[in-house]
Amino acid sequence: PTQRYDPDNIFAKILRGEIPCTKVYEDDWALAFEDINPQAAVHTLVIPKGAYVSWDDFSARASDAEIGGFVRAVGEVARAKGLVEPGYRLLANVGEHGGQEVAHLHVHIFGGQPLGPMIA
Ligand code: 5GP
Repeated sequence: PTQRYDPDNIFAKILRGEIPCTKVYEDDWALAFEDINPQAAVHTLVIPKGAYVSWDDFSARASDAEIGGFVRAVGEVARAKGLVEPGYRLLANVGEHGGQEVAHLHVHIFGGQPLGPMIA
C-alpha cells in the first residue's frame, strides 16, 4: 500500500471507543456515525471495522466477506435513514488529490436535501 495504516488515526480511536461519536449503525463489518462537520442535511460516515487506509487499500487487501459486509452496511444505513426514495450520494475521498483527511477508509453518505451536481 502507498500508506501504512496508523492505528492512532481518529476513526480507529472512534472504533475502539476512545473518542465518542453519534452512532447510527453497527454490525460485524462496519460502524456508521454522524459527521462532526456536516456538509448536507444528512451527512453520515460509514467505516469498515478492519484497518484499511482508503478505498484503494480496502479493495486491494480486504477479504470478500469484509467487502461484502461493508458494501451491504452502507446500503443498510441509507435505507435506515430513509434516503432511498428521495435519493442520496456516496463519496469516498482517496489520498492527497482526493482530499482525504482521515486515513481510515470512510464512505460519506450525503442526503436529506437536493444536492446539486457535486459536493466538493
Ligand atoms: P475526508 O476528507 O477524509 O474524506 O473526510 C473526513 C471527514 O471526517 C470530514 O467530513 C470530517 O468532518 C469528519 N471528521 C473528522 N474528525 C471527526 C471526528 O472526530 N468525528 C466525526 N464524527 N467526524 C469527524
